[in-house]
Amino acid sequence: MEIYVNPSRDQWARLCQRAVQDNEGILSRVREILEQVRQNGDEAIKDLTRRIDGVELDCLKVSEEEFSYAEMAVPENVKEAIRQAYRNIYAFHKAQKSLRVEVETVAGVKCIQKSVPIGRVGLYIPGGTAPLFSTVLMLAVPSQIAGCRTRVLCTPAGKDGLVNAEVLFTARLCGITDVFKAGGAQAIGAMAYGTRSIPKVDKIFGPGNRYVTLAKQVVSTENTAIDMPAGPSEVMVLADGSARAEYVAADLLSQAEHGRDSQAILVCRSEAFAKAVEEQVRIQAARLPRGEMIRSSLGNSRIIVFDDTLDMLSFEETYAPEHLIISMENARELAEVIDCAGSIFVGNFSPESAGDYASGTNHTLPTSGWARSFSGLNLDSFMRKTTIQELTPAGLRLIGGCIETMATAEGLDAHANAVRVRMDEAADAPKGVFRLENAVRDNIRNLKPYSTARDEYQGDLGIFLDANENPFQNGYNRYPDPHQKALKEKICSLKKLNPDNLFLGNGSDEAIDLVYRIFCNPGRDNVVSISPSYGMYRVAAETNDVEFREVLLNEDFSLDMEKLEQAVDASTKVIFLCSPNNPTGNALDFDQIMRIAKGFRGIVVVDEAYSDFCTGKSAALMRDNIVVLQTLSKAWGLAGLRIGLAIADKRIIRLFSMVKYPYNISKAAMDVAMERLSAPSTEQVRMIIEERERLAGELPKIGIVRKVWPSQANFLLVRFDDPAYVYAQLISNSVIVRNRDSAPLCKGCLRITVGTREENDKLISILQSL
Ligand code: PMP
Repeated sequence: MEIYVNPSRDQWARLCQRAVQDNEGILSRVREILEQVRQNGDEAIKDLTRRIDGVELDCLKVSEEEFSYAEMAVPENVKEAIRQAYRNIYAFHKAQKSLRVEVETVAGVKCIQKSVPIGRVGLYIPGGTAPLFSTVLMLAVPSQIAGCRTRVLCTPAGKDGLVNAEVLFTARLCGITDVFKAGGAQAIGAMAYGTRSIPKVDKIFGPGNRYVTLAKQVVSTENTAIDMPAGPSEVMVLADGSARAEYVAADLLSQAEHGRDSQAILVCRSEAFAKAVEEQVRIQAARLPRGEMIRSSLGNSRIIVFDDTLDMLSFEETYAPEHLIISMENARELAEVIDCAGSIFVGNFSPESAGDYASGTNHTLPTSGWARSFSGLNLDSFMRKTTIQELTPAGLRLIGGCIETMATAEGLDAHANAVRVRMDEAADAPKGVFRLENAVRDNIRNLKPYSTARDEYQGDLGIFLDANENPFQNGYNRYPDPHQKALKEKICSLKKLNPDNLFLGNGSDEAIDLVYRIFCNPGRDNVVSISPSYGMYRVAAETNDVEFREVLLNEDFSLDMEKLEQAVDASTKVIFLCSPNNPTGNALDFDQIMRIAKGFRGIVVVDEAYSDFCTGKSAALMRDNIVVLQTLSKAWGLAGLRIGLAIADKRIIRLFSMVKYPYNISKAAMDVAMERLSAPSTEQVRMIIEERERLAGELPKIGIVRKVWPSQANFLLVRFDDPAYVYAQLISNSVIVRNRDSAPLCKGCLRITVGTREENDKLISILQSL
């Protein structure tokens, strides 16, 4: 093998050349053969087989007896090896099943992509120098998984008129019954045109000599698809100091024994390593039986030495090998950055032979640089994709204008007209309406509620041996009531609600997370929130892998409907509206919230954590797609208990209850809440509001205060010239507020919670002193 050290870039094209194939004269012969098969079918095949291979065939189809004979002829250890390889190849290809794609691109415009098997496929297995029964696995297994209706296998018979026993055994293992004795261009013709015995197929797969390859190319310009362009097999090895010369030499030789025109290329870091590999090639080649073939293909092979890893990688990408072995320090990472290779083998213990036979990947791969544009064989090679679309009248109304404009601009008025004639009727159709089944996440739709043994028993007194608790009574030895019945009744009587409409969570933060888990498909859906607003909406979006879209409020913190509508699309599942909003303190316009809920097909969460400090109306139960969040953390003074509320249509509450963890509220929290809710919160709320108004009056009088926004919550948003300084000074006086300087529209702002009268006095006096 010739060694090239740091070849300049203008030499690369020559070094990347494959063995030249001389197809002169062959093409016309191939066309002749195809024509004979087209006209004379089975007779032409028998005739050609007699003349070319010297084999006399009575019947093309392999008989049941031949299959039985093959079953007996294959040694048990070979059978077991084939079975093991089958299992691995099956597992890897089975996992390639692509998901059905179903997307509502615009409300009412549903687009679906489904995969369907190719109906009739033809698998070609060459005879020749080595009977490649491994190729039977590589073609037949994916076609079996795909579910192709007709699978035809053609392979030449040997001199004895029989097909190789391993090929037959493997075909049978893969469920193939129609095997025909036909080889070369005539087999390709038979599968492309069909004969009396051999069915016509839609796509032909498999390797072969130059006649087979050319025949596939010819029929692919007529009526039959083919897997990929094929050429002689090739391997490239990328090696650095971590590679082993004897392993690399063995890999180069395993390629070289494929055929005279095979090519093996080593790209390495040092001449010393190149020489060591050369020496190993010489030693190992002398021991191999296919010596003559190996010598010939080593003539096409070469070793390139580069000082620079980047040059090694660019050379690899220029060559685009069928097989690439990376024996380098960081082989795993390099495999991820390499684009142009049919199949990549990582590290010193991944020889090409593993992929050729048994690891599970497919060995039918693009050669001759086609790795730049073709994939190796995989499950998809045996499938087609069909798309389906369905537009509702509302959907057509939404994209009709776009279609008409484009069709008219292309001068295709009949296309525009096909929309126009439907538009009147579509315009009258009702807008998309909320349907819970459509709003929930796919895996939630068919969720079944669970019940425990204790639900079945339903009594308070009993011998409870069902939950692995400690039986000795201490007030907390039992798990708490998962349905929180007593506390729910208490809260419902205060809020005039039906318990079916109430969910209790570990803070309303739990309800926010559950909204994502119930309604949003991770990685696919999005939610829309106003901005600035409460930070947990974004946190929960990120942990649930849901896109988070923000609609910037106006300067006065009101909401622009048009901007909101622009942010919402068919994948928007939830809109978060916080009212009164945190950190701005203003309540959103109630009619606006109702209009949003009416026009939206998903869930509108109205977070009313601060509603007790506000005079406006609650959105609770105003429409069946509204989920209202409230909390005991603010007005009730119970932030330490962690109890939050979601109020919604009972079908939504049922989903919350099914998805939550059963004991999300502790017995201790429920006990304390029961007791505290017995005394009204109104007096404290009144005092907080009074203090808020006092602060709102006093703060603007202080020199360093730029602005105080009116608030309907228990905090005030206050702008200063130097918020960082004020913030730090407050902290040094043991007063902690929230710095919102970096929140959108909140430049210079601190958010200050209303404290007790004394606390507020202290705040005022510190601010006055600055
Ligand atoms: N929503 C808003 C708007 C909030 O500001 C907060 C807490 N600051 C919450 C929900 C969380 O409430 P809980 O304590 O019930 O989790």
